[in-house]
Amino acid sequence: MIFFFGTRASKIKEHQLRNTTCSHCSTANSFTVTTYSRYFHFFWIPIVPLFKSSVAVCGHCKKSYAKANFSQEMQRSFDQENQRDPMKRPLWQGFGCMLLLAFFAIVFSISLYGTFFGPKHPNKASEIQDPRRAALQADIRNIGSVLSKEKEPLTYSLKECINYEIVSGLDPAKIEYFTKHEQDRLLVLLKVRDMKKIEVSSRKVLIDIIEDCVYAMDDLKGIENLYIGVEGRWNTVLVKTPLAEDLEGRFADKYKLLPFYGPEPTPALGTADSLPVRTSSDSLELGR
Ligand SMILES: [Zn+2]
Repeated sequence: MIFFFGTRASKIKEHQLRNTTCSHCSTANSFTVTTYSRYFHFFWIPIVPLFKSSVAVCGHCKKSYAKANFSQEMQRSFDQENQRDPMKRPLWQGFGCMLLLAFFAIVFSISLYGTFFGPKHPNKASEIQDPRRAALQADIRNIGSVLSKEKEPLTYSLKECINYEIVSGLDPAKIEYFTKHEQDRLLVLLKVRDMKKIEVSSRKVLIDIIEDCVYAMDDLKGIENLYIGVEGRWNTVLVKTPLAEDLEGRFADKYKLLPFYGPEPTPALGTADSLPVRTSSDSLELGR
């Protein structure tokens, strides 16, 4: 019967035992000690080294002694020899292990590379195609604490109202604001640093508060289209616009706010992206 996995042993050291006498035939200095290292194999590929074993054989009477049965003088001589020249397991006995480690290291570094360098390029490309994305990113970066009533009257009174209505547990000092007014459109961005204090299911209450506050303000009677984005500590968590909403409270698509900045720009003719599309529609018409 053949086993495709199991353990095998290989000889890693052989040496004489000095200053010993065989207890069986009384011959002096007749022992040769051989040390084996056992390893686990799979299809004869060594995976991982296991334990070492040593056996001493008398050259005269051929009696063999396992290490557990060594006499005191044999044990002393054996230890002295190993201090002088320690026995090492050969590296190849861990070949399979190292192969697996190398494999995981490669997979890990590829995924790490992808995380840091991969998605940036498509983002850059889409920002060039759609300048509204860059405008939104810039506005999100500009979310900050409201400095004074005189400089930012609109944001200031919005903040006052929200502080008054705010859900218990939230620290108003940890909420930052940004507002932008364009004709009949208003963009309100909030960053709530201690968002974790509100349950995911009740986060959308924030949207109601913002809406109530905006529609109650006299300065904003002309506003017909309200665009609200709420940032958590790491990402956008709530979005509500006249056309779309993401109110799950965990992860929202901030690009739903883009219509605030105007309609989607049509790609310029003749660019690499638009060419194949035109070609395929032409050929479709030819085929009819
Ligand atoms: Zn002997």
